[in-house]
Amino acid sequence: MEIKKYFLNLLLPEECILCGKIIIETANYYPICSSCEDLLKPVKGNICPGCGISLISEKKKCLRCRDSESNYLSNRSLFKYSGYIKEVIYQYKFNDRKNLSFYFAKKLSKVLIEQYSDSIIVPVPGRRIVKKDRGWEHIDLIGKILKHNYKLPIKKLLVRKGKKAQKTLSREKRAENLRKSIILREKIKSIPDSVVLIDDVFTTGTTVNECAGILKSAGVKEIYSLTIALD
Ligand SMILES: [Zn+2]
Ligand SMILES: [Zn+2]
Repeated sequence: MEIKKYFLNLLLPEECILCGKIIIETANYYPICSSCEDLLKPVKGNICPGCGISLISEKKKCLRCRDSESNYLSNRSLFKYSGYIKEVIYQYKFNDRKNLSFYFAKKLSKVLIEQYSDSIIVPVPGRRIVKKDRGWEHIDLIGKILKHNYKLPIKKLLVRKGKKAQKTLSREKRAENLRKSIILREKIKSIPDSVVLIDDVFTTGTTVNECAGILKSAGVKEIYSLTIALD
């Protein structure tokens, strides 16, 4: 792959998505030059133990987490959803820059290895329509790289409901299902004790909480969330 990438670069020099400079390094598979990568600063300092948001005051939960109960123990995000990282995520999700998946997988893998080594990694399932339209889905692809390049334990325990399945259900069941867009995958052999959900942007935490609720009912004891950015 490395050699293939090198020759590809010769044929088609890649520009950094942030500054436009031609990338000479061939070690990375993603279109961000090393100077721009240095500008992508991770979340640091005092954070809310619940959602991971930066706090000004010390050691207390943020207002939102103080007032609400969640099905997951905590969320941690690599970055604050602003500035350069917002652009990188935009390019990845909406401008089809598929190879940025290598950048996100690299960043997530570091934290997963250091902090969540006892947990099974479960990607938050993406929208089926996205996968159908372009053949890949952003979190699913990152999961594949984490599994194959970093040898991390990934299990796709959750799925988005398909439209087809809906048709065979009763009216009541259909209405109930409409409220739940994510369900537990069928025929799962074993339920892990500890899970870390991975997703792109943590905004209100609703999706993560929905996923965590399903896993909790299925018997998972500890559920964490790790996301690329926090909005
Ligand atoms: Zn650059
Ligand atoms: Zn919080």
